[in-house]
Amino acid sequence: MNHVRIKRIEMLQVAMSSRRPLVAAHGTIEERPVILVRIWDADGVYGWGECVAFPAAGYVGETVDSAWRALQGGIIPALHNRRFESPDELADYLSGAAARTPIAGAAVEMAAWDMVARRQGRSLSNLLGGTRNNIATGKTIGLGHAGTLATDVAEARRAGYQRIKIKVEPRTALSTAAAAIRAADGVPIVADANGSFSVDDIGPLRELDALGLAWIEQPFPPGLLGASADLQDSMSTPIALDESASSRNSVRRIVDMHAARALSIKPGRLGGHSEARAAYKLARNAGLSLWIGGMLETGVGRAHNLALASLPGFDLPGDMGPSTEYWNRDLITAPIEMVAGHIGVPIGYGIGVEVDTEYLLAATQRRHVVR
Ligand SMILES: [Mg+2]
Repeated sequence: MNHVRIKRIEMLQVAMSSRRPLVAAHGTIEERPVILVRIWDADGVYGWGECVAFPAAGYVGETVDSAWRALQGGIIPALHNRRFESPDELADYLSGAAARTPIAGAAVEMAAWDMVARRQGRSLSNLLGGTRNNIATGKTIGLGHAGTLATDVAEARRAGYQRIKIKVEPRTALSTAAAAIRAADGVPIVADANGSFSVDDIGPLRELDALGLAWIEQPFPPGLLGASADLQDSMSTPIALDESASSRNSVRRIVDMHAARALSIKPGRLGGHSEARAAYKLARNAGLSLWIGGMLETGVGRAHNLALASLPGFDLPGDMGPSTEYWNRDLITAPIEMVAGHIGVPIGYGIGVEVDTEYLLAATQRRHVVR
């Protein structure tokens, strides 16, 4: 590939409104400001990226505001007019320039992948090495739906979702998970604790183990890999880690310590596609089951996730549902749709979706352009 030079960079913060708030052990998400990044090369070819930071710290350390500052003050000036041979080379450079802000860096890194795929007239899935045409889709049901849990699970089953994830917290996990399994009528149920169990909560975890869940997700806080390994040793239900998989190195530790049998990969959190692919290779070589996790992305981030999820080895249903599951209005011209519990991997150039720029500008809260 010839050199590509980043000629122009635009960042926008957009107000997204959720169709229904998601309640998890780490908080409630109702309104979601999202930063989108668009970059152009000298020939006018562009690419889109999305920053997955939330308004408040908690699930991850970076926030929308801190990511905005990191992008505007450091990452974008460092990349403007920069030439690179391949997205991996750009990612290498970013792993220094955005070492402490991988989530901000990922927005630009993923935009570069999209731009390079469009330049080469290929889909991003193809550029990344994808082999799959469609991705099995999972549904997530938040906490605070105890009264309607059975109805919600049954509805998700009828809608065709291939796996239903319920958020749990220690006090009510057993009854919630048991009710969900009854209502699911054979559709795999996952219990996601978002790290809310402590090492003293082994009793309730053993009871969960007896239910036949597809997996128990992130029982302990992210750093407790030893405890997770011990628990996995004594349980037949696979443990899956999500929050703990925050970097390539953390994935290496998870693998080395046998802390889980399944893993969520989130490119927008890990620093972009290059880092995510490196983590994926480590985990896949070690025999872990994999899926692409969600960070409540817009259609732009979702299209990126679908491209990565098309790689061989992402065998568990992903966290990304159709556009209508999340937003009153998505940012892309043709919403992402689910058919029989699967979402097609976009086959157009790059991420294969186009942004509705008119609506985007109407929903933009702030904007910064470097040319
Ligand atoms: Mg999770």
